[in-house]
Amino acid sequence: MLVSVAREAIAADDVENAPARARARARRMLTPVINATGVLLHTNLGRAPLAHEQEAGYFNLELDLATGKRGSRQAAVGEQIALAVGAEAALIVNNCAASVLLALGALSGDTGVAVSRSELVEIGGGFRVPDVMAQSGARLVEVGTTNRTRLADFQRAIDENDVGLALHVHQSNYKIVGFTEAVSVAQMATLDVPVLADIGSGLLDATCPWLDGPPPNWLANEPAVRQTLEAGADLVMFSGDKLMGGPQAGIIAGRADLVAACAKHPLARALRPGGLVLSALQTTIGHYLRRDGDAIAFWRSASVSVPYLTRRAEAMATTLAGAGISAKAIETKSVPGGGTLPTVSFPSAGVRIQGDHLDTLRNADRPIVARVEDGSTVLDLRTVDADDDQTIIDTVTAAQP
Ligand SMILES: *Cc1c(COP(=O)(O)O)cnc(C)c1O
Repeated sequence: MLVSVAREAIAADDVENAPARARARARRMLTPVINATGVLLHTNLGRAPLAHEQEAGYFNLELDLATGKRGSRQAAVGEQIALAVGAEAALIVNNCAASVLLALGALSGDTGVAVSRSELVEIGGGFRVPDVMAQSGARLVEVGTTNRTRLADFQRAIDENDVGLALHVHQSNYKIVGFTEAVSVAQMATLDVPVLADIGSGLLDATCPWLDGPPPNWLANEPAVRQTLEAGADLVMFSGDKLMGGPQAGIIAGRADLVAACAKHPLARALRPGGLVLSALQTTIGHYLRRDGDAIAFWRSASVSVPYLTRRAEAMATTLAGAGISAKAIETKSVPGGGTLPTVSFPSAGVRIQGDHLDTLRNADRPIVARVEDGSTVLDLRTVDADDDQTIIDTVTAAQP
């Protein structure tokens, strides 16, 4: 890499800047950063915090240790996920978009797929439900209106349009308010066709058995995998790296015959996850099955207490002020992010430093990502591991002129 940078610098007649060019190139490599934005699932920082550790070594990805024959890379983790959400079976693909693509491709056949007009959504990054449907080969049958859709609209579409599937899509990143009416998964389950639910966010169970105490209020209207299946969805599709707090993955969970049909479709091979993802997912699911929410970084950040954050913020502000920096502990608000829960925020605590220091912090050896409010830099500690507080103090202090 250094040779190629040197060649570029020579070709550009910019030899004296070769070291700066090399540093800029190094900056583009993947590196751990401190997320002081207070956005728990930060899209640009890979959504949920990634836990991964693996020495070089072989593992039984597709070897059935009991028989010595070729096995399925999916089987074990799929079973664990199914157990965690109360599904008959589960299949893992690369992301939630892929899970919708595969489920529609494998199950729609020649028949239409009914979707409410209020759910023909764009999630971001080009995920648009009508486009994904078109790519899957499924024929979209729009039902109801933008603000109001009723069960009778679905029934009519099924009777008139040779519809063989109904799709429910969670309005993850927007809300329709006012004169509205929507059809729940439970209502859709009374229809004569299988119901697929794309819930996106991947909250595994609304009762949050992995947390001490009751489920947090901010989850009140968030669909959960287990409850969506209980409401009668035949398949639920969700992301691994949103509220589940695992690696990037898409999961299809529900009826065993439908999951098997997805697994048999030619697209399943193209969309299958690698061993690294399956292994990280197995670790994450293990934490859920042991009801150990504290072991999942996303849930740790989401449930950390505000007084604890305030104490850390005050200590940090005091140290910085002692070094002559204009810093103050403040109350602030964190958000879930990642295109989930658009109206939710939680109280948090952080440090406000006079002036905009975003560029300096981001360009530190250990990059720190923060936000600017009213011309001051705000570091929200909810998304920062307490072990990184000292790094923040050192970086901010070193950046002082
Ligand atoms: C986020 C989301 C998706 C896309 O998930 P990826 O894992 O990013 O592919 C699809 N559907 C819904 C409802 C979502 O919220």
